[in-house]
Amino acid sequence: MRHLFLNGPVQNGPFTFATRPGKAVGIRLAAALNAILGLPPAPHLWNTVTLAGDLRYHEADGPTIPRRRFEADLIADKYPSGQSPVGGIMTDTDAEVADLALETIENNLRAGTLTISRETVPICRACGHMTGIGGHPCNACGSTDTLDRTNLHLVAELAKERPVLDRSDIHASHRRQPKHLQRTSANIAQRLILSRTRDHGIDLSPVGLNGLVLDPRVGIHVTVLAAARRHEAEMAVMTITENAANHIAAHGQHFREQDGTRLQYALHGHLPYDHMASLQPLYEAYRTTQEIEDDFEAWFLPVFSLRTRTATSPGQLPALFKHYMRARLADPVTADAAVLEAVQHAVSTGDTEWITNKRALAAVLAARATAPVTAAKV
Ligand SMILES: [Zn+2]
Repeated sequence: MRHLFLNGPVQNGPFTFATRPGKAVGIRLAAALNAILGLPPAPHLWNTVTLAGDLRYHEADGPTIPRRRFEADLIADKYPSGQSPVGGIMTDTDAEVADLALETIENNLRAGTLTISRETVPICRACGHMTGIGGHPCNACGSTDTLDRTNLHLVAELAKERPVLDRSDIHASHRRQPKHLQRTSANIAQRLILSRTRDHGIDLSPVGLNGLVLDPRVGIHVTVLAAARRHEAEMAVMTITENAANHIAAHGQHFREQDGTRLQYALHGHLPYDHMASLQPLYEAYRTTQEIEDDFEAWFLPVFSLRTRTATSPGQLPALFKHYMRARLADPVTADAAVLEAVQHAVSTGDTEWITNKRALAAVLAARATAPVTAAKV
């Protein structure tokens, strides 16, 4: 298998997909693209290494269940009941992710791109959390009392001979390269500390860093690589917004390739799910069924989000719905194999023109109608 699309791990915060469908865009997009390529459903990826998660766990009445189980229950609650993902769930602390992370760290330590060195960092005097520079209150406990502590840490040296992100890191055709992202992601220190104080995460004691875990921004990359490795994909394509990519790209620089598996980012915009009610008159005019509305909202819109830099505006919704319906109602003769093959090639190369092409979209819709996918509804 060459490509596998995987969602940028979703933060396991307090929401459900029913109330916050915007959180599912990356998952829905990855599922749609994998299905077009005829690939099996990929696991849904989750980011559980968060300070908010540490705090939530402490606040839960006397946590009587292990943290891993606590996170798993929170994830399960996000899905409509009985709708767990066909491809399974993988979190950023699963054993296979931790194993791959340590393997990648050890390779990087040998290559000298990562080092373990004594670093002086500000920590909270009250709780020991690494507070970062800037003198703001501790994010873990609110104390403003910090002190400098010198300890061993895992440090990344950013490559000088190449930018944080270049063309080979982005799954997009040449014309759609995100120049802005490539510039902003480069505005970062030359050295990054990749070890963190967290209660839950990938334990770094096997490399001699007791009490520290791997920075979750690194872990997100390793989770995607681990999922790709499980499916023997050569190219793991992570669906992610430009903002999120900007936040994690530098931390992932030495974690985008392992054992012949490469990682690329496929950028998508936000969707105006809060404004779907504005489509009601149009839905009525077209006498749509619930199935059509669901497919437009949970399949077409996520696919369309690949074509937008930051967000789809609510004002675009009627035109997008009409485009989707025209393709849906097109003569089934348009579902020819050559058009479908061209779309599959486009999906593999990051070309998104087909999404706004009626004939191409009709071919994909017709193919889906004959081989319906059994993806979980999220
Ligand atoms: Zn604190």
